[in-house]
Amino acid sequence: MQPVRIPQISPISLISLLYAVSLYIFYRQGFISGLTFTGVAAIVVAVVVLFYCVFRFGWNQRFHEPSLMLPQLVASLLIMLGVAYVERSTQIALVPFMLIAFSFGIFRLSTASLILLSLGCLGAYLGIIVVRAQVEAHDFGFRADLAQWFVLALTLPGMIIVGKQIQNMRQLLRATRYQLEHYEEKSVRDELTGLYNRRQLQAELEQAKLHADGNGIPFTICLIDIDRFKEINDNNGHLVGDTILKEFARVARESIRDTDILGRYGGDEFMQILPDTDVKGAVMHAERLRVYAHFLDFQKILAQKHISLSIGVAQYRPGEKITDLISRADSALYQAKQLGRNRVEWIND
Ligand code: GH3
Ligand code: MG
Repeated sequence: MQPVRIPQISPISLISLLYAVSLYIFYRQGFISGLTFTGVAAIVVAVVVLFYCVFRFGWNQRFHEPSLMLPQLVASLLIMLGVAYVERSTQIALVPFMLIAFSFGIFRLSTASLILLSLGCLGAYLGIIVVRAQVEAHDFGFRADLAQWFVLALTLPGMIIVGKQIQNMRQLLRATRYQLEHYEEKSVRDELTGLYNRRQLQAELEQAKLHADGNGIPFTICLIDIDRFKEINDNNGHLVGDTILKEFARVARESIRDTDILGRYGGDEFMQILPDTDVKGAVMHAERLRVYAHFLDFQKILAQKHISLSIGVAQYRPGEKITDLISRADSALYQAKQLGRNRVEWIND
């Protein structure tokens, strides 16, 4: 399922916009004066424009944390606390809007910053309650304010804890996705040589077939086999055999075109897929690879110093099965072995 994409909006704009709308409702219901509403709306617009300019002109890049999350949240919280001080009835909107503000900070701010910010908010809000109690000397109002303060004091830490857990889960998810990609990459590669493995070669062949059937441009495959590799193993040891396979794979990978695909078909046998290439072109490439491999110098590890390759080439016939194509390349390879090895053979179409 595709995640729902929500357009990026700065915290200050979203919180201020929603808060201004709720203040408008307070104003329409007669809880706050028109003067307060227009005053707050003007401040909100000024602050939003200020932040917009800061981001628009890239001034935020001069700061250690260019998202300016902390200043944006502090500005939003100060506006809300100021309004709560001036208009007592708006206190009811304080808790939910503070929670929205903190939810923005949870993924960007450190736990220490969040704790400091919440302590600052709670301290300022308590200050407002105490100052107002002294001015108004209204016991019931004071106790109601205090109850609201306690609600905030309890929900803020809960919010931070839940948010941090979500953040941990996101990190875990990111790490798991990375591992998955790593395993996916490993599952298509041959462990010894790092080339594509047989399964991936099959998939690439099916892909090449689809492509060729679609546009009518041929592709060709080469089956490449190291000559008398068993003898190399028997005379020099399996580890030397492994080194030769790896070295050959490295050199072959460097010698092919970017568009070609090279994989280990099994044992000492490799397959090259040459897209948009006919048998003539592929034979040329195969010849070059054969000569290239023959001049590789293994004298430090191999008694016979050099290796040789036999290569069978076959061009895809439109509509045929991949197994038939491989079987023709195999016949060509067999022919190359029969004719004395160290050569390229192909099946004429
Ligand atoms: P030919 O010229 O006819 O191809 O002779 P060959 O000896 O190369 O042919 P054969 O298929 O009989 O031998 C392939 C050898 O490759 C046999 C096997 O022990 C060896 N081999 C297969 N996989 C590996 C590997 O991963 N490492 C090493 N060192 N040897 C391997
Ligand atoms: Mg062989």
